[in-house]
Amino acid sequence: MSTTAERASLPYDLSAAARAVYEQPVVGHVIDGEVRESASGESFPVYDPSTGLEFARGAQGGSAEVEAAVLSARRAFVDGRWRLMPPAQKERVLHRYAELIAENRTAFGELDSIDAGILKGFGGFIADFAVGAIDYYAGWPTKLKGVVPAVPADLSVALVREPVGVVGIITPWNGPTAVAAFVAAALAAGNSVILKPAEQTPLSAHLLGVLALRAGVPAGVFNVVQGAGEVGGALVAHPGVDKISFTGSVATGKAIAEAGAKTLKRVSLELGGKSPILVFPDADLDLAAAGAMSAIWNNSGQVCTAGSRTLVHRSVYDRFAEKVVAESAKLQVGGAFEEGTELGPLVSAAQLARVQSYVEIGQAEGAELALSPTASGGGGYFHGPTVFTGVRNDMRIAQEEIFGPVMALLPFDTEEEAYAIANDVEFGLSAGVWTNDLSRAHRASRALHVGTVWINTYQNNDVSVPYGGVKQSGYGRTLGEESLEAFLHTKSVWTKVFDA
Ligand code: ADP
Repeated sequence: MSTTAERASLPYDLSAAARAVYEQPVVGHVIDGEVRESASGESFPVYDPSTGLEFARGAQGGSAEVEAAVLSARRAFVDGRWRLMPPAQKERVLHRYAELIAENRTAFGELDSIDAGILKGFGGFIADFAVGAIDYYAGWPTKLKGVVPAVPADLSVALVREPVGVVGIITPWNGPTAVAAFVAAALAAGNSVILKPAEQTPLSAHLLGVLALRAGVPAGVFNVVQGAGEVGGALVAHPGVDKISFTGSVATGKAIAEAGAKTLKRVSLELGGKSPILVFPDADLDLAAAGAMSAIWNNSGQVCTAGSRTLVHRSVYDRFAEKVVAESAKLQVGGAFEEGTELGPLVSAAQLARVQSYVEIGQAEGAELALSPTASGGGGYFHGPTVFTGVRNDMRIAQEEIFGPVMALLPFDTEEEAYAIANDVEFGLSAGVWTNDLSRAHRASRALHVGTVWINTYQNNDVSVPYGGVKQSGYGRTLGEESLEAFLHTKSVWTKVFDA
């Protein structure tokens, strides 16, 4: 384990609140109302994607921490310190939590930038999203209600909405503070929560755990256990955890569904995507090109809904490709804190190597590299925008999620062919459609087998709008009322009212 002295100090002028998180000897767990290091004393390195420097250590959780967190969460659930707290009081606590996150907006933005390479200007928006999500779910405890169905008159039955119990939330690294949305939905439903953030990004999860306590969320109701995939695996296997909400890769999602079956866990999965952007010849090509570019360059392609297959009608294909290549070549690649950066780093050296390997695969498959990635400089994990033309839909670069700034341009001839190509992939998370033909827009929204369709826009979201996929993109929805529903079950309470 490296000592604090051996760590690199970051070359940025960051807020005291952010420094207070990552300058700790170890960024710890939050279990049973207190910040803890690991019983084993083990920790893992945290790297700044913009420089490749190790600047912090995260506590490496193990079975001791998982046991402690589950015990604490279960105790809190059973004694009802949160579950049975009057709804209006729960709402006040959650609104206070949102306020504390808003007060720490700068710190959250900075933490996500040094942890995940999120562009400085964007980090604050993720914090805003988290605040909006918590405020939204904070409004629910007083609005949850059941029904009283008609049954024979000597009986009464109430269908009561109740929390499912202890919930494990396992999350990826690509928008660390945004996980507050899932946590808020689970808490608003009255559950006890254990968050296992990605090992690449322990910082903002730690602060989310600490601020929840400060807001008045009782000890044990929201725990954070840091660490690698094994910690997530231990939560999935634990008989004391009632539900797992997972966001991440398809392979891990399938492993979780399978392992969770042993204890009949409720599981919701938000997995990856290979989302198509369909550009019809009647579209405003300038707007379509701008939309297709932001769909894949946003967060350097590290977004589940990245528009990684761009399907363009053959009559405008060459013009579109030229435009996209010329404009993408101008994008400024650089560190998250550098002035003018438009494309930030990838999250890790491993992710950079993965993206680079797909560029080789694409060339070997015979696609044309119309815009080659610029060589990555410095110690950061940089990968320039990359465009492949002449891509066939059966190529691996058209079928597999790369999670990086690689655009695959595919031509199509007819509307039916466009839908067939769009759907001919194992994923079904989202799709974008660019057309000025209203009927076509409606036809497209019906033809595309995905969880979200954006028409003449892309990647808008709102806390009230459910988000999730079909096929290998998973099941269950996050955000909106549907997310809340997934953290509740219906209890039927029968009463004998009188003797008939
Ligand atoms: P990616 O980083 O490509 O999204 P994963 O889907 O594996 O990769 O990671 C998402 C989250 O799942 C992380 O928090 C990771 O630690 C966790 N995780 C990885 N493997 C497992 C597993 N077998 N069981 C539970 N959680 C896991």
